[in-house]
Parts: sequence; C-alpha cells; structure tokens
Amino acid sequence: MNAAVEFLSVSRHFGQVRAVDRVDMTIAEGSFFAMLGPSGSGKTTCLRLISGFEKPSGGAIRIFGEDMGEVPPNRRHVNTVFQDYALFPHMNVRDNVAYGLMVKGVDRRARHGKAEEMLALVKLDGFGDRKPAQLSGGQRQRVALARALVNEPRVLLLDEPLGALDLKLREAMQDELKALQQRLGITFVFVTHDQGEALSMADRVAVFNEGRIAQIGTPAEVYDRPATRFVADFVGSSNVLPPALTQAFGGPARWASLRPEAIRLSTGPEARAKGRVTALRYLGAGTRVALETGGQEIAVLVPAGVPVPEVGATSGLTWDASALHVMEEA
Ligand code: ATP
Repeated sequence: MNAAVEFLSVSRHFGQVRAVDRVDMTIAEGSFFAMLGPSGSGKTTCLRLISGFEKPSGGAIRIFGEDMGEVPPNRRHVNTVFQDYALFPHMNVRDNVAYGLMVKGVDRRARHGKAEEMLALVKLDGFGDRKPAQLSGGQRQRVALARALVNEPRVLLLDEPLGALDLKLREAMQDELKALQQRLGITFVFVTHDQGEALSMADRVAVFNEGRIAQIGTPAEVYDRPATRFVADFVGSSNVLPPALTQAFGGPARWASLRPEAIRLSTGPEARAKGRVTALRYLGAGTRVALETGGQEIAVLVPAGVPVPEVGATSGLTWDASALHVMEEA
C-alpha cells in the first residue's frame, strides 16, 4: 500500500483548545477515506492541515512521502470541495469550472475544452452557459466537484460535501461520489458527522472524538467491533452494556456492545435473558422493540414479517455469543 497522506503525531492547538491532539493516521493512495465525528471533534481542522490552510502545532504531515512542513497549499497536489461550494455567482458554470486553469495561465480554448470534459464527468454536459443561481443544489454540488477535479489533484478533500442536500439527493450523490472515486482512482478524503454516509461510501473510517482518533478501520470493523463506548454510541445505535450487565449476559465484567439487529426475541429455552417490552417503534423495514432488562433498556430490531410482542409483555432475548463485543472503557 502506498500512503497518500500520513499524520505523524499531529497536533493543532488554538490557545487552550486542542482541536487536533497527537493524531496518527495513514490514508492509502486511491482509497475513499472518511473522517467521522461529532461537531467540534477536529475533522475540519485535519482537512485544513492536509490542504495547508492550517499548520500543525506539533508533529509532521507527509503527502506522497514528502514532508509538508514548508510546502504551501498551492503546491500540495490537493484540492478541496467546500460544503457551501464557494462558486462565483457572476461567472457561468464553464468559467467556474475552468477557474483553476485560468489562474495557472492555461489559454481560453484549452481550459474551456477541459471544463467541458469535467462537466461531462459529473453529468452536466450542456450546462456550461448557466449561472450557479440557475442550478439545483445537487447540480451546484457537481459543479463544485468538477471545479476541484479540473486541476487533476491526486488527493481530493471534501468537507461535508452533501450537507446542503436533502436526504434523497444526498443518497443519490453518495452513490455517484463513490462511483466517481472508483472510476478516477483519486484518493478522496471526506469529512462528515453522518455515520450512514461514512459507512456507505468509505473504504476506511477514522472516528474522531475531542481531537483524537477513537478508532480507525473499515466500516464493518467500526460498526461491528467498536473499540470504545464512544464509537459504539456514535456509530449506529448499539446497545452499550455496563460491566454488570455484560456479566449477566454471559460475558466478562467489562463494557460491551450488542447491536439491536443481532438480538432475536425468543421464548424458547435458548433465551439468554428476559425483558419487559417498554416501547415499540415502527421503522418500515422492521420494528425497534425496547425492553427493560437488569435495570437497563435494550433495543432489539425485529425484521418486518416477524411477530412483535405488545408493550408490557415479557419476552426472552437471544443472540450469537460472538455478537457480544467487549470494549475498552473509554
Ligand atoms: P464541525 O463538524 O462542527 O465542523 P469539526 O469536527 O470539523 O466540527 P473543527 O472545526 O476541526 O471540528 O474544530 C475543532 C475544535 O477547534 C473546535 O472546538 C473549534 O471550536 C476549534 N477551532 C477550530 N478552528 C479554530 C480557530 N481558527 N480558532 C480557535 N478555535 C478553533
């Protein structure tokens, strides 16, 4: 694996605030990498450290093996797509896309040709003469993408690029972005606080908490085997079990996670625990059943078509032993 971006114990402090605190991470060339975390956890600062708009207070950043210490933003082979797209309202779409080439002194004909090529790539052929105001949110997003790609960056940084879109469009664009990344083979580094977005698009996910990486891994690793309580809580809707309950459930006296979809309701002898149903929530693809057991609420996802008990009823719960995942307490 070749590294596109490496963080070696990178910190960025603003006065007393440790926005980024001794972060180590390696982003593989050609991968789709997500930085996921709640607001204020340091994701955007990491992105700005890669682009060079921010300088580390400590540690080192390498891009394609080269130390970025003294390398200015315009010499980093990196481009950013911002959440608000930052399009020039008075320029038409073609000139917006060609802007980076104009700055480099590329002649008009060549840059317009290249701009049209990029517009075709993001499925906006024929939109070159429009102004940004004459486009939908999703189309503007694609113009911003085309404008970043025209410079042929080796790493594309995306800061909540789908945040301004409605849910349906966002899901469609998730598929498109993923397909585009695979087609181009460029390294995409993507910031989001939406766990569904990170899990569905990324090859690897770094989960941020208070300026540090709580876990880094594939979406499946982060989802199924959260390293800490924070990750279990933030990624998905896991049941987080305190040590006493883990023990009652047949595990060691440690914190553990148990996914709602890994639990089955069962009244047979295989039941490992018992609970009283306290609430039901219909979700379309299934029903989320909340049960009270051992003084704690446990959520179970019952797939559509499987009978659901009534509120107040008592039910057994069972799961595969491997579904009970023990975590570090952090
Ligand atoms: P969001 O999802 O809200 O954008 P984030 O995870 O991207 O959050 P950052 O923007 O990286 O978080 O901010 C991390 C912390 O650093 C926050 O506490 C923020 O207030 C602080 N911070 C960021 N930039 C500056 C700055 N220029 N001056 C002072 N504090 C800053």
